Amino acid sequence: MILWKNGILHTLENEHDVHYQMATDQGHIIGFDEEIENLTYEKVVDLEGHHLYPGFVDAHLHIVGYGQKLSKKDLSSMRQKDDILAFIKTHVGQGFTFYEGYFDQGITKDELDQISNEKPIILKHNDYHSLTVNSVVLKHVNLTSDSGFLTEEDAQKVNKTYEVYDHEHIKKMIKHSISSLQSFGVTGGHSDDLYYFNGYHDTLTAFLEVLEEKPFRTHLLMHHKIIEDYKASKHPFLDQNKYLQLGAVKIFYDGTFSSKTALLKDHYKGLSHQGIRIFEKDELIELVKKIRSYELPLAIHVIGDLGLKEVVELLKAYPPKKGLHDRIIHASLADLKTIEMMEDMPIILDVQPQFISSDLPHILSLFSKELAFIYPFKTYMKHNLILCGSSDAPVEIPNPLFGMHQLVFRKKDGVVYQQEECISRFNALKLYTTYANVPTYKTNRGLLKKGFIADFTVLSEDVLTMDESSFFKDLVKMTIIDEQIVHHA
Ligand SMILES: [Zn+2]
Repeated sequence: MILWKNGILHTLENEHDVHYQMATDQGHIIGFDEEIENLTYEKVVDLEGHHLYPGFVDAHLHIVGYGQKLSKKDLSSMRQKDDILAFIKTHVGQGFTFYEGYFDQGITKDELDQISNEKPIILKHNDYHSLTVNSVVLKHVNLTSDSGFLTEEDAQKVNKTYEVYDHEHIKKMIKHSISSLQSFGVTGGHSDDLYYFNGYHDTLTAFLEVLEEKPFRTHLLMHHKIIEDYKASKHPFLDQNKYLQLGAVKIFYDGTFSSKTALLKDHYKGLSHQGIRIFEKDELIELVKKIRSYELPLAIHVIGDLGLKEVVELLKAYPPKKGLHDRIIHASLADLKTIEMMEDMPIILDVQPQFISSDLPHILSLFSKELAFIYPFKTYMKHNLILCGSSDAPVEIPNPLFGMHQLVFRKKDGVVYQQEECISRFNALKLYTTYANVPTYKTNRGLLKKGFIADFTVLSEDVLTMDESSFFKDLVKMTIIDEQIVHHA
């Protein structure tokens, strides 16, 4: 039994509910304050007056992909074409193939060929849906492109050819990723990794092996392309053990704003197209029917407003088994009718508040009309939709405080984007705790209550009252998973 004393413990049931000490045993909370005074403890942890919350959860990310980014050359701080080309030139010589986080500056295949026409060069765009590559890569994977720009399926083909790692390397990336997440106070994550890299069996085994020594509440989405592997494995849906769950089936419906592939009602400005649908209609319906016959819920990536409308209609026509809910990942742009339609449906939204600062200022020029509901978090909440906070790492840095800052302030370089969609600090905390646990189907996660799991995030300041600038400080004092202190500042 462990006593956690001398802290301010935010239950998150109501905004002002706090306790000052708490007892845990066998991985669960057993009581608070006066009621635990006469118990005998094996261990006492002094929280030194800091603030303790239910453990932060990132509801959509790519754990292996983030681990990979941590070990790769990163371009995300560079915005000048010449700087990027010079950087690549230096590193190609050292044997680096991949360059991550590239914000499109119009670099072409020919420019990359001038750097090297013998070694492969792959620039991963910051949305992770597109690549710019040199001729060596195109030839190797048997694709053609005048500019070297590849998106969606073609980009996947390149990744699958070049991103082949041995089992130990995959484990190393998972470990690296989880350590970084824990340092941000994150105790759990819902990750989409099982199709990319080494596929279902090897990646799942790697997770199981890492989690034996490194606790992290991991919930893995199952990409539709590995669903037959899952079926053949006879693994149960959800719990594999106390740290690992298998979740909904991941499908991509459209692309992204920055690649101009998100499916919009209106045309992209100056262009004649509205984005793309990844699937033909009949093909998608067959796939959804099959997934429903396996009694599994869906997790659908969709960004554009037309895409969202079509996805909601699809889910309405083919609902999940009673008691299950589907997830919509992103839901970045919406219209009121679609939002109203979602209200009575078993749908959860996995949203990325950091896109407001990283993406929105750059994409506003892409649209031909003013947008009514872009990242409309408050409107979604008003319509009783459950929102789960997430980073989509490696797309964003998986620091929940950065996400909470955008939920509360919606601000970049002093400019506020749709003030009317800002939500309260309390609700911002709920998105990364209580609500982010809904997709796990566990009813004892995301609050401080008797019987709830002992996963906690301890910060040196209080999210509910601290200065705006504190959201960017390293406030994490401790990360606790299953009663174990896995990160200590
Ligand atoms: Zn993602």
